[in-house]
Amino acid sequence: METTVRSMTCKSALNRVRGMEFGWSLNPYRGCAHACVYCFARVTHTYLDLGAGSDFSTHLFAKTNVVDVLRSEVSAARWRHEQVAVGTATDPYQPLEASLHLTRGCLEVLARYRTPVTTPRSSRSSAGGPAARFVSAYPRWMRRSGAGPSRERPPPAIAC
Ligand code: SF4
Repeated sequence: METTVRSMTCKSALNRVRGMEFGWSLNPYRGCAHACVYCFARVTHTYLDLGAGSDFSTHLFAKTNVVDVLRSEVSAARWRHEQVAVGTATDPYQPLEASLHLTRGCLEVLARYRTPVTTPRSSRSSAGGPAARFVSAYPRWMRRSGAGPSRERPPPAIAC
C-alpha cells in the first residue's frame, strides 16, 4: 500500500495533559509507519477524518512548523519547565525523522530551554537509531543549558 506524507502546520506544539505524571505532550508527526496492530494511538487519526486502520500507517503528516512554534512556547516567560512527553500519539523516531529531523529539532529546543522530557526508548525505531542517540545526547544538551536530568523511562501513555 502506498504511503503518503503530507505537511501540516500546528498552532501549538505542546498539548496540555491532565492526570498524568507529565504536564504536556508533543507529537511532531501524525500517524506512524510502523503500523503496530496494538497501537492505541491509532484512534488519533480519526480526529483528522481518517481511519484508525491502514490510514494510520499510510497517511502520515509532518508538522513542518513544530520546532518554531515550540520555541516560541518554551521561550516565553510563562513557561514553567514542566515535563514534556514526546511521542504520545506517534513514534517520534519513525523513518520520516531520518529526513525531516523534527523530533531532533524539538528536543534541542526543549534542552535549550531547560525542559525535562520523557521519550520512548522502546520504540520500533530505537535499536541503534535516532532514539538511542537522542536519549543519550539529551542529558548533555540539558547540562549545557544548566538544567537538571531528564527522565529516561517512558510512562504508560507513551505510544510505543
Ligand atoms: S511504533 Fe509506536 S506509535 Fe508507531 S504504530 Fe507502533 S506503537 Fe504505534
